[in-house]
Amino acid sequence: MRLLDVLLGLLLLSLHTPSCSAATDTVSPGNGLAGSDRLVSNNSKFALGFFKMDSKSSDTNPNSYLGIWFNKVRKLTPLWTANGDSPVIDPISPELAISSDGNLVILDQATKSVIWSTHANITTNGTVAVLLNNGNLVLQSSSNSSNIFWQSFDYPTDTLFAGAKIGWNKITGLNRRLVSRKNLIDQAPGLFSLELEPNGVGHLLWNSTIEYWSTGDWNGRYFGLAPEMIGAVMPTFKFVNNEQEVYFTYALRNEAAIVHTGIDVFGRGLVGVWMDSLQDWLINYRQPVVQCDVYATCGPFTICEDDADPICDCMKGFSKRSPKDWELGDRRDGCMRNTPLGCGSDRNKAGLTDKFYSLQSVRLPHDAKKVQAATSGDECSQVCLGNCSCTAYSYGEGGCSVWNGELNNVKQQSDASSDGNGEILYIRLAAKEVDAKEVPSVGRKKSGITIGVAVGASTAALGLMILGLMIWRRKGKCFTRTLENAQGGIGIIAFRYVDLQRATKNFSEKLGGGSFGSVFKGYLSDSVTLAVKRLDGAHQGEKQFRAEVNSVGIIQHINLVKLIGFCCEGDRRLLVYEYMPNHSLDVHLFKSNDTVLVWNLRYQIAIGVARGLAYLHTGCRDCIIHCDIKPENILLDASFVPKIADFGMAKVLGREFSHAMTTMRGTIGYLAPEWISGTVVTSKVDVYSYGMVLFEIISGKRNSSPDYFRDGEYSAFFPVQVARKLLNGEIGSLVDANLHGDVNLEEVERVCKVACWCIQDSEFDRPTMAQVVQFLEGLFEVHMPPVPRLLNAITGGSPI
Ligand code: ADP
Ligand code: MG
Repeated sequence: MRLLDVLLGLLLLSLHTPSCSAATDTVSPGNGLAGSDRLVSNNSKFALGFFKMDSKSSDTNPNSYLGIWFNKVRKLTPLWTANGDSPVIDPISPELAISSDGNLVILDQATKSVIWSTHANITTNGTVAVLLNNGNLVLQSSSNSSNIFWQSFDYPTDTLFAGAKIGWNKITGLNRRLVSRKNLIDQAPGLFSLELEPNGVGHLLWNSTIEYWSTGDWNGRYFGLAPEMIGAVMPTFKFVNNEQEVYFTYALRNEAAIVHTGIDVFGRGLVGVWMDSLQDWLINYRQPVVQCDVYATCGPFTICEDDADPICDCMKGFSKRSPKDWELGDRRDGCMRNTPLGCGSDRNKAGLTDKFYSLQSVRLPHDAKKVQAATSGDECSQVCLGNCSCTAYSYGEGGCSVWNGELNNVKQQSDASSDGNGEILYIRLAAKEVDAKEVPSVGRKKSGITIGVAVGASTAALGLMILGLMIWRRKGKCFTRTLENAQGGIGIIAFRYVDLQRATKNFSEKLGGGSFGSVFKGYLSDSVTLAVKRLDGAHQGEKQFRAEVNSVGIIQHINLVKLIGFCCEGDRRLLVYEYMPNHSLDVHLFKSNDTVLVWNLRYQIAIGVARGLAYLHTGCRDCIIHCDIKPENILLDASFVPKIADFGMAKVLGREFSHAMTTMRGTIGYLAPEWISGTVVTSKVDVYSYGMVLFEIISGKRNSSPDYFRDGEYSAFFPVQVARKLLNGEIGSLVDANLHGDVNLEEVERVCKVACWCIQDSEFDRPTMAQVVQFLEGLFEVHMPPVPRLLNAITGGSPI
């Protein structure tokens, strides 16, 4: 009933959307645009006109701009702005018109002076400007629409429209790049940009100079460091690099979908989907994942802390330089000293009365200057004191580092931080500031769970679901940090227990279960089905719960099962996932008698799982080791796209992954030898387990199947048989008999080789998952693998 109300409400809302059929999409000579006039594209998707950012802010910014926005999105979201750095200032009433030279211009109606112009070289008699269905404003010949003199797609602001290009025209040198807006209301260009290098690598830049995120190289299918963009983000996307151009573009599968791709005022790349049901944007992709990884995001002399609210604060002894700009999201000026340093003053030329204040557990600022001569903390501090422009020092394993001038990018590391525990930074302050009693800073509170945003839900159904459940709630102690981290990238819903109880019909339809709990089917509406994992056992359950939310909760990839939400009430720990109608891979490989997975699907599943793992290991900010790869933990969606599930054993490691794991995790039969030998464990344990799964995909049998004991004789462990047969070249006989030879032998051989490389004794001989993806995609030739010696020996194979 409630859902019905929501639906009816939405219907009424949409009926109230003003009809735009009367609007035109063209500006022609003598037919300009002024005041609140609009151009509306023929499909009603885009509108163009003069706008002001909300009325509240009009005292701070009375400027108006000419721009393009989504016609039906109630929350004004400028997608393109003509005159960001030359706004129209009240009380001028501007007009958009075709000037006598054929250019499109913004005129001050009173003085007829030109505020902005397309400045094109017009070679025809008559021109018109048309707002096309894809949101491109083109200035074209009035007699021949293919004769285009200027188009807004060539001068993007902060948004990449579907169908527009980002990149270079190698002949004209035109560089189409996205530039952040100055602040939340001022449309002037800001400090951050997203652009393609001439070699085709995409990157985010600060001040056009410093790179803080890169897509990696295009490998023919996707950008190496951003594989999750496949499917998870862009419906279809294209990268072109030829003699004339190098660019990236994307298309929407559904033209009507309202998708916003661009760079925000805080320097992060994003993709958002407009949810009518929420009347808001749902951001389902952000890079960098956490705000503090944007270069100088809080400005100089600040500390950035991803888990804090607000995330930026001044260092002790400093205050915001421009609180008003800061408020509007422009923090470039950062903070300034409350009390000048003593250094250089009459009383104390050497500045020896200055003192240092220590900041514990921080990521140090960039641009350190190493001082080899200083061999103790004390000497290092003296070096700093002896130089009036020195503002901080640090003394650690790497010796003495000092900084001169502004300090940028200092980040507070949290206890559970993946980047280690951070270092100590000593900032130089006037003595009286150091001695001053700490005043508790206002407005900087540790927030509780503030999440209430759904995950990448491009379906209205999920939006409805959120409304239907209405479960935005703050909950005390449950792993606050994890969810705040999650907020950086992907939101998760906090469900109420009663709602999950109802959705699963009191946990009546069991889908499966392992050692830590059971998974039940749930229904939110006719179109939304869930899998609800209920963890049992207070202590273990809590560990699994945290592990899952910590790993899969903060990332998103087409080949990873999507965590929609959780419930954390009292002792109850539940995880809510997208339901996967085709169950887990083991069912199809080992249990199904009537349907057989055809070879092509098996191959696609192998690649998909490899992509998901590659993303876990290298694609996201931290290295995540799954630790329990096996067919039971590989789920299949309606189209048999594989999704890695069950992150209960997953381990999130820092980027250096120098940590050794001590507790053994995983399942016998898929365990890499280093688990047993007790040496340092790295992501290569997943590679090993993945290899074992590949063998099972080939044979359709468990590697440990009793079938391999034929006629009382052990015909050698299947993986060892494969390794041997590869050398003899008779792999056809290894493939699942149920396929009746209907296979692509070249692919079978490739999978066999990759599988054998994955299970090599030494982790150094195994490929990375990114290499596996490339091998399986046929981008590289795979060499002949040696027979894994350990397996050969322990499973009774004859010596080689
Ligand atoms: P455990 O830690 O108990 O192994 P899993 O997350 O692996 O938990 O889930 C156990 C089983 O439940 C899976 O092997 C699968 O059969 C089923 N299952 C889990 N998640 C889903 C899902 N999202 N959709 C459909 N079935 C699922
Ligand atoms: Mg499992």
